[in-house]
Amino acid sequence: MKKEQLFHTAIVGAGASGLFCAGSFDASKIVLDANDKPARKVSVSGGGRCNFSNGCVSAADYLSQNKHFCKNALAAFKPQDFTTLLDEFHIPWQACENGQLFGQKAGDIVRFLVNRAKIHHTALALGVRVLDIEKEPGGFLLNTSNGPVRAAHVVLACGGLSFPALGAGPFGIKMARKFGLAVVEQHPVLCGLSFDKSLRGLGETLTGSSAEVVIRQGKKRFQGPLLFTHNGISGPAVLKMSLFWKPQEPVEIDFLPGKNAAEILAVHKNSTQTISGVFSSYLPNKMAKTLLSAYDGPLADATRVKLQEVARTLHHFTFFPSGTAGYTKAEATAGGIDTRTIDPTTMEVRSVPNLFVTGELLDVTGNLGGFNLHWAWASGFAAGQALKQRF
Ligand SMILES: Cc1cc2nc3c(=O)[nH]c(=O)nc-3n(C[C@H](O)[C@H](O)[C@H](O)COP(=O)(O)OP(=O)(O)OC[C@H]3O[C@@H](n4cnc5c(N)ncnc54)[C@H](O)[C@@H]3O)c2cc1C
Repeated sequence: MKKEQLFHTAIVGAGASGLFCAGSFDASKIVLDANDKPARKVSVSGGGRCNFSNGCVSAADYLSQNKHFCKNALAAFKPQDFTTLLDEFHIPWQACENGQLFGQKAGDIVRFLVNRAKIHHTALALGVRVLDIEKEPGGFLLNTSNGPVRAAHVVLACGGLSFPALGAGPFGIKMARKFGLAVVEQHPVLCGLSFDKSLRGLGETLTGSSAEVVIRQGKKRFQGPLLFTHNGISGPAVLKMSLFWKPQEPVEIDFLPGKNAAEILAVHKNSTQTISGVFSSYLPNKMAKTLLSAYDGPLADATRVKLQEVARTLHHFTFFPSGTAGYTKAEATAGGIDTRTIDPTTMEVRSVPNLFVTGELLDVTGNLGGFNLHWAWASGFAAGQALKQRF
């Protein structure tokens, strides 16, 4: 790292948005990251295949206190813009169900991000933690674990709090507070929900069992796989719902979406099966037995009230989660720097000229399906275009 050089731009974070921003304009710039490897979250994303975007991205796919904020950046950088770049760099990708766009290997996407940044005059300083940032005449002084760095512009691209093992931490929020920016309270999302003590036994018994469900929370409903974990529920339907769940709110699970438990029971009323046995053709045997343990027994002996309870349990299983699985398991962090402090076209901090913020550090959180990485590209691109004008 050339310590005395004044860089045009210093980018804090060689993650998705920082590297993409770096590759979007030609100027002498440095990207600093505390990790020894670049874009560690991208390298594990999408189960190792990187769900890098979604064929139909719109502002409705994002949660923010200001739901209009992301519109300009999303309009200026579309999923096709990213796939065009991948094609130019000969990176294979494919469109999958629900509009999800995947790479073949997440490592390909990381290499693309790094190579593109390097082509555009970027020095990469890995294993270097930024400890503090000061505003000084003509720019900023970054105090790093490897000495001071000076730059005329700074991009805070240091991500959210999820997955501390991959480098996530509170530095961006600390700097936001230092520069007087409002912050929307952060919390882990796109993660599992926990059972309280009364339901722990259910999780322990059913760990690893999964089923296609509809999960409802208020007026929102999400269909997809649910997976029981040793202390709660997880799986795509739950992760999607977790973006909207608030403490003390109940969730309701329909274990037989599109079917009618009462009709199924009526069809089998003359059989010699047990109640749970009837549903073992629709749910894993162990799940049917455990969910219905309070009512199980020969179907022929069951009262009408008991059968109503069975149907209610299967279609309206309601509980109050005791919390989320937390930052160690969450794929994203909701909340962050309040977008009212940021120009939506350039990502520049309104009150601190030449300071920019991108990616998950902002109060913009996408749902499961490639939306968070797309926000990283779109916000990084927006900042890159603005910085290009100042070159
Ligand atoms: C397991 C997992 C899987 C995911 N899969 C997907 C997926 O398939 N599709 C999708 O759309 N989203 C996915 N996400 C979310 C997505 O990875 C993030 O939203 C995205 O990476 C955010 O980009 P970012 O640039 O804001 O931050 P990040 O990519 O997190 O980068 C921030 C960087 O800043 C560095 N940093 C922080 N503080 C400092 C400091 N003080 N000094 C120096 N460096 C610092 C960190 O080391 C990190 O490298 C996944 C997340 C996780 C955890």
